[in-house]
Amino acid sequence: AVEIHNVTKRFGTLRVLDDVSLTLAPGSVTALIGPSGSGKSTLLRSINHLERVDAGFIAIDGEPVGYRRVGDKLFELRKSEILKRRVDVGMVFQTFNLFPHLTALENVVEAPIEVRGRPRAEAEAEALELLARVGLSDKTDAFPRQLSGGQQQRVAIARALALKPKVLLFDEPTSALDPELVNEVLDVIEELARSGVTLVIVTHEIGFARRVADTVVFLEGGRIVEVGPPERVLEQPDHERTVRFLSKVL
Ligand code: ATP
Ligand code: MG
Repeated sequence: AVEIHNVTKRFGTLRVLDDVSLTLAPGSVTALIGPSGSGKSTLLRSINHLERVDAGFIAIDGEPVGYRRVGDKLFELRKSEILKRRVDVGMVFQTFNLFPHLTALENVVEAPIEVRGRPRAEAEAEALELLARVGLSDKTDAFPRQLSGGQQQRVAIARALALKPKVLLFDEPTSALDPELVNEVLDVIEELARSGVTLVIVTHEIGFARRVADTVVFLEGGRIVEVGPPERVLEQPDHERTVRFLSKVL
């Protein structure tokens, strides 16, 4: 499980996350929604220790993210150890962030070889399977510039999967895509969601959240305003602010 315990994060005087607590059960699918600036990306980045939180902590399978527990104190890990742990958490961004000078296949095998020290032949065989899973068997030797946005994002998903993460984080994975390419990426994410990986997705695709998520979290001003199953949060929200937000995005 991923446990977020009373996390507060400030940028200067701005409190971007304000006492956020949330547990993500193994295999659960959580959709994170909320207005721009509400702290969604910051929360995702904190799960990966790309942001250092100011109070509280996050643990994955009991291990504090970015820290070592000694007695009841937490000590920040060294950079090399943080990087080692980070392979447990795969992240897919709005902009695909592929290596432009590498082919689709090379993008997927890079981390398993460099980070995990896997033999190239093995890593390549697995990468070919992953690329098939995201529907790109015919594009393994293409460079990012030769791929559509949806195809690039599917390579990015295969690349994230290649490290066999415990948790997959998606930060608005379809918002940079042309509308006709959104579904090909959402379909891949939906299939992953059903495969048992723990998944968190920041999305404005409310229909997708309703169909795929077990839990919807509505964040505003760095606080969790509402959390629950999609049919409740999206259809019978308790809070006026959730109602107002949904009326804007639906
Ligand atoms: P969006 O929907 O626009 O992506 P978000 O919910 O992901 O928004 P965050 O990116 O988490 O929001 O940002 C939350 C707040 O923190 C914003 O007010 C933002 O300006 C601020 N912020 C984020 N990163 C930094 C930073 N590195 N330095 C200073 N302020 C930051
Ligand atoms: Mg964001």
